[in-house]
Amino acid sequence: MTQNARLREQICTLAKSMFDRGLTHGSTGNISARTDDGGLLVSPTGTSFGRLNPGRLSHFDAQGRHIDGDAPTKEMPLHSAFYETRNQTGAVVHLHSCHAVAWSMLSDLDEDNFLPPLTPYAVMQLGRVKLLPFFRPGDPAMGNAVRGLAGKRSAVMLANHGPVVAGKDVEAACNAIEELEATARLALLLRGLGPRLLTGPQVREVVTAFNIEWDA
Ligand code: ZN
Repeated sequence: MTQNARLREQICTLAKSMFDRGLTHGSTGNISARTDDGGLLVSPTGTSFGRLNPGRLSHFDAQGRHIDGDAPTKEMPLHSAFYETRNQTGAVVHLHSCHAVAWSMLSDLDEDNFLPPLTPYAVMQLGRVKLLPFFRPGDPAMGNAVRGLAGKRSAVMLANHGPVVAGKDVEAACNAIEELEATARLALLLRGLGPRLLTGPQVREVVTAFNIEWDA
C-alpha cells in the first residue's frame, strides 16, 4: 500500500474512532494531513467523521491545487494557517467537542492559557492553549487569527465553537486534541471544588524535562 493510501485509511479510522466516542457529532469536525510528496489530504465539506470515505478525501498537490476527491471542508483556512506558520505540522484536527466548547463559554478565562494546569499530559501534548474569540463559521478571520500567533501555538480554542490542534502527524494531532477535550472535562467536573492544580514550578519542571514549546 502506498503512503497516500495508508494515510487515507488512518485519517478515516481515527476520525471514526473519535466520532464513535462522541468527541464530535453530526457533520462537525474536520481533519487534514500532509502526504509525503508535500500535498494535503482533507476531509470533504459536509461529511461526518463517522463515515469518511478514504477514496473521496480532498486531495491537494504541493502547490495547493485541488487534484482529486470532493471539495474540502469550509474550515480549510484554519488548517492552512497552521501549515503556513508551523513547518513541523503534519496534520491538523478540529472538533466540536462538548466539554471544551462548554469551558470556552465560561467567563473569567485566561485567554492566553485556556486550560487550567491539571495534568502533566495536557502540558506535554498541547503547550499553552490560546482562546480565540468567536467567529462566524467560515469567516476567513479565523485563519488570520491563527496566523497572528506566528506559529507559536499548536493548539487553539475557538470560543463557542471548538478546538483546533496541529501535530507532527495524524496520530499526534488526534491524541493531543483528545487530551484537550479530556482536560476541559476534568476542569468542568472540578469547577467550584477547589482542585489542587499543578503549581508553577511543577509545570515548569514538565516543560523543561520534556522540552515543551511553552511560548512563555
Ligand atoms: Zn467547526
